[in-house]
Amino acid sequence: MPTYTAPIKDLQFVLHDVLNISGSDIPGYEDLEADFTAAILKEAGKISSEVLAPLNVVGDTEGCRLENGVVYTPTGFKAAFEQVKDGHWTGLDMPEEFGGQNMPAVIGSAVGEMFSGANQAFTMYQGLTHGAASAILAHGTDEQKAKWLPKMVSCEWTGTMNLTEPHCGTDLGLMRTKAEPQGDGTYKISGQKIFISAGDHDMADNIVHLVLAKIPGGPEGIKGVSLFIVPKFKVDEDGNIGARNGVSVGNIEKKMGIHGNSTCVLNYDEAEGYLLGEEHKGMRAMFTMMNEARLGVGMQGLSQAAAAYENAVAYAKDRLQGRDVTGAKNPDGPADPLIVHPDIRRSLMDQKSFIEGARAFILWGATMIDAAHRKGDKDADGLVSLLTPVIKGFLTDEGYDMTVKAQQVYGGHGYIEEHGMSQFTRDARIAMIYEGANGVQALDLVGRKLAQDGGKHVMAFFELVKSFAKENAGQNEAFDRDFLAPLKAASKDLQAAGMYFMQSGMKNPNDALSGSNDFMHLFGHVCLGLMWAQMARAAQAALDTGTSDVAFYETKLMTGRYYMARRLPITATHLARIQSGSDTVMGLDAANF
Ligand SMILES: Cc1cc2nc3c(=O)[nH]c(=O)nc-3n(C[C@H](O)[C@H](O)[C@H](O)COP(=O)(O)OP(=O)(O)OC[C@H]3O[C@@H](n4cnc5c(N)ncnc54)[C@H](O)[C@@H]3O)c2cc1C
Repeated sequence: MPTYTAPIKDLQFVLHDVLNISGSDIPGYEDLEADFTAAILKEAGKISSEVLAPLNVVGDTEGCRLENGVVYTPTGFKAAFEQVKDGHWTGLDMPEEFGGQNMPAVIGSAVGEMFSGANQAFTMYQGLTHGAASAILAHGTDEQKAKWLPKMVSCEWTGTMNLTEPHCGTDLGLMRTKAEPQGDGTYKISGQKIFISAGDHDMADNIVHLVLAKIPGGPEGIKGVSLFIVPKFKVDEDGNIGARNGVSVGNIEKKMGIHGNSTCVLNYDEAEGYLLGEEHKGMRAMFTMMNEARLGVGMQGLSQAAAAYENAVAYAKDRLQGRDVTGAKNPDGPADPLIVHPDIRRSLMDQKSFIEGARAFILWGATMIDAAHRKGDKDADGLVSLLTPVIKGFLTDEGYDMTVKAQQVYGGHGYIEEHGMSQFTRDARIAMIYEGANGVQALDLVGRKLAQDGGKHVMAFFELVKSFAKENAGQNEAFDRDFLAPLKAASKDLQAAGMYFMQSGMKNPNDALSGSNDFMHLFGHVCLGLMWAQMARAAQAALDTGTSDVAFYETKLMTGRYYMARRLPITATHLARIQSGSDTVMGLDAANF
C-alpha cells in the first residue's frame, strides 16, 4: 500500500525562506512565525498520514454506493470526516464570525495540499463545501450567511456546485434547468444536473446545493443564468432541519478515479430554492466559487504528483535491476537499485523539480489571494486572476504526467493495482477536466485574461521577472548562469508569444487559439522558472550565512539547476509551435479526419 509523508520541511522552506510570510504586511501574517506554522502543519500532516492516507485505497476499491436513494461513502470515511470536523480543519481559513479559524489562505493551501495528497476523493467533500460557503460569503444576504454558513464552515452540512447538465458542460448558455419565481421570494427549481461531486452522501445532516438555473423570461444564453441555494432538507427560521426538498439522486457515476467521492446525477423536481446574489448574475456569483475551486484543482495536480513521487523514490531505492553503467553500487547484491540508472534519475528529477516548483507557485498564488482579500490589493487580485488558468491547467496537465512517470518507475508493478500507483494516475486525471477542461483554461488565458485591464497584469508579471533578475544579478556567477540566464530567455519566449498573439491573433483568432495550450504551458514553465530562481536565491542565502542543514539547501540548488537546464528550455518549442499559427491546425476539412 502506498505511504504518504507530509512535506512539512519543504512547505516551511517556501513559506519562510522564500516567501518570508511573517515579514509580510498582509493582515494576519504577523502571527505566522515559523514555530506557529510548523505546529499547524505538523498536526495537519499527522491526520493526513495517519487518518486520510490509509483510507485512500479503501475509497478506491470500495467506491460509493447508492441504495434506495441513499448514497453511502466507503468504510471509514464517516469516522474520518468526524475527526476532520472535530479538529476544526474544515473552517481553517473561514471567518471567525461563522465559526472558522480566520487563518490566511496561504495556510489553508499548505494544509490543503497535504489532505489532498493523502486522499483526494475524501478531501473533495470539504473542498466543495468550502467553495459553496465562499460563494455565500461573497454574495449572500446577512440572513443567508447567518442561516447557512456556520453549519457549512463546520461541515455539519456540506456543499456542492451544480453547473453541468447532460447537454452542456463548457457552454453553460445552453442550460435548461428552470427556476420559477413563487412570488414569496422562493423559486421552484426543476431540471437535471449531472456529474455533481459530493452530490449526496451519508457524512452530513444536510447538503447545500448551489444550483445554476434560468428564470423564465430572462435574457437568452449565459446572461440569463442565476444562482440558487437549494438544500437537500429545508431549514426553518431557527435553523432546524425540516422536510425533504425536491432533489433526489438519479444515479452515481462509475468512473476512472476518485471512487471515494460520490459523483451524482441530481434530479430537481420543483425543489425550493433561494436566489443567491442578483437575478441573471449567476455566473458572476458562481465564479467566486470556481476561481477558488480552480486553484484547489491545480493543487490536486501537485498533490497527486507528490504522493506518487514519494512512493516511486522508495521503490527506486529498493528494487534491484541491472548494474550501474559506471560500476556496481551494490556489489554484494545480485543487482543495483533502480535509482542508479540515469533514465530513472531523469524521471525522478522531472517529478521532484516539478513538485517543488509547483508547491512554491501555489503558495505564492495564495499570498496574492490574501493580499487581495485582506489588504484590498488590486494588483495582486489582477495577477492571481491572470495566473489562475495557468495554475489550474498547467499544474494539472503536468501533475498527471508526473503520476504517469512515477508509475513508470515501477515498471509492470505500476500497472498492477497491488502497489496502488495506478490510483494516483487515475485520480489525477479528473483534475484536467473538471472546473473547466484544460483546453478551456487555455482559451480563458489567451482570449480573456491576457488583455484584461489593457494587458496591465501580464505586463506586471514581466516587470516582476525583470526586477527580480535586476536585483539579483552580479552577486554570484553560478546563480547568474544557472538561474537568471535561463529565466530571462524563457521570459523572452513568453513575451514573444504574447506579441505574436497581439499582431497575428487580432487578424485571425484561429492563430491565437491554435497556440493557446502551448501558451498556457509556456507561461507555466516561466512561473516555475521564477519560483526556482527565488528558491535558489533563498537556498544560496542560507548556505552563505551558515546553516546546519547544508544538504537540504544544496539539494534545492541542484534540483533547481535541473529544472532550469532540462525543463525550462521547452519554452522555445512552445514558442515555435505558437508562431507556426493555425494553417496546419485548421487546414484539414472536418471530413478528412
Ligand atoms: C468526476 C467528475 C466530477 C465533476 N464534478 C462536477 C461538479 O461538482 N459540478 C459540476 O457542475 N460539474 C462537474 N463536473 C463536470 C465537468 O466540470 C465537465 O465535465 C467539464 O466542465 C467539461 O464539460 P463537458 O463534459 O460537458 O465537456 P464539453 O463541454 O462537451 O467539452 C468537451 C471538450 O471540448 C472542449 N471544448 C468545449 N468548448 C470548447 C471551446 N469553445 N474551445 C475549445 N475547446 C472546447 C473541452 O475543453 C473538452 O475537452 C464533473 C465531471 C466529472 C467527470
